[in-house]
Amino acid sequence: MLEGYKDVYVFAETRDGKIQDIAFELLGKGREIADITSSKLHAILVGYNVSKEAKKLIGYGADEVIVVDDKCLENYLTEQYVQATYHIINERHPNIVLIGATSIGRDLAPRLSARLKTGLTADCTKLEAEASGALFMTRPAFGGNLMATIVSPNTRPQMSTVRPGVMQKLHYDESRKGEVTTVKVPFDASKFKVEVVEIKRENKKQVKIEDAKILVSCGRGVGKANLHLLEDLATELHATVSGSRAVVDDGIIEQARQVGQTGKTVRPNVYFALGISGAIQHIAGMENSEFIIAINKDKFANIFQIADLGIVGDVKKIVPLLVEEIKKIKAQ
Ligand SMILES: Cc1cc2nc3c(=O)[nH]c(=O)nc-3n(C[C@H](O)[C@H](O)[C@H](O)COP(=O)(O)OP(=O)(O)OC[C@H]3O[C@@H](n4cnc5c(N)ncnc54)[C@H](O)[C@@H]3O)c2cc1C
Repeated sequence: MLEGYKDVYVFAETRDGKIQDIAFELLGKGREIADITSSKLHAILVGYNVSKEAKKLIGYGADEVIVVDDKCLENYLTEQYVQATYHIINERHPNIVLIGATSIGRDLAPRLSARLKTGLTADCTKLEAEASGALFMTRPAFGGNLMATIVSPNTRPQMSTVRPGVMQKLHYDESRKGEVTTVKVPFDASKFKVEVVEIKRENKKQVKIEDAKILVSCGRGVGKANLHLLEDLATELHATVSGSRAVVDDGIIEQARQVGQTGKTVRPNVYFALGISGAIQHIAGMENSEFIIAINKDKFANIFQIADLGIVGDVKKIVPLLVEEIKKIKAQ
């Protein structure tokens, strides 16, 4: 541990006053790191009318929740949020700071790290700590063709953004004990250059493949003409359709359904990889699925390296047989 720096801090992201899942996921990992490094886990809760949410963060693993509740934090605005989090970090001298690699986190973290004059490892998919307090931050590099592990030996805090869906939250424990500390930040309003005039919400209901228990994932080997076969399978299994970047680029499914390095990280109970070759960028987004079933006509396809069940064959033939069997079993 570098002298004068201690403990793990997690930025608890909120939207419309509600804590986002990414905060609980980071607390899950943060708890593990805090235990390994014999330190405490703190959550930084910044927003307006958010104090009532603090207890949840304790139930998910925080020892302390530091709350900044201020009207100027009602909507996410870079300068306001940077000032609030900088104030806390600058006073507390953390050893480690974790932030979600969400659109908010990707905006906040680099500005914060610049103000703190420390490094930032963005978009991590793996974090490992040593008892000494050193953090090994792993992220895809060179177009996802290799995984780079980054350490920060000389500057603190060690800062990292982590992709949503990668880390696992702990089970909520209402009986966990922790402290809630309210902090008043001396905001410098003269630096607030942006204000929210109006919020217009997109009407479209976005599909959230990250939450699906079963994913039926479509690759280039399926093709547009056969997408209905996958949709039939998904309907029978009450599953959600997702896919590789190849089928997103071909306009077969929408971007929100893309799995992988530049798409979503998923962890369903069952992942069907149908006509998907298993490129490293795809695998990065689904390798932590509970059970992976792959169908590919190429027995050397990379996807079979990580599949729990592999079927060598044509999806056009196998998927309808599968649907028929499921229907038969359901009818029994
Ligand atoms: C920076 C970067 C980021 C990327 N991000 C992502 C990402 O987030 N997600 C992602 O998925 N990709 C990503 N990619 C692209 C990735 O490298 C691959 O090109 C892509 O995953 C391939 O998609 P695919 O497996 O569907 O297609 P292909 O690689 O073309 O594979 C098709 C497979 O289908 C099989 N097949 C063909 N016909 C049949 C049939 N009738 N029955 C059964 N099997 C059949 C073939 O044997 C083959 O294995 C990224 C690439 C880069 C460079």
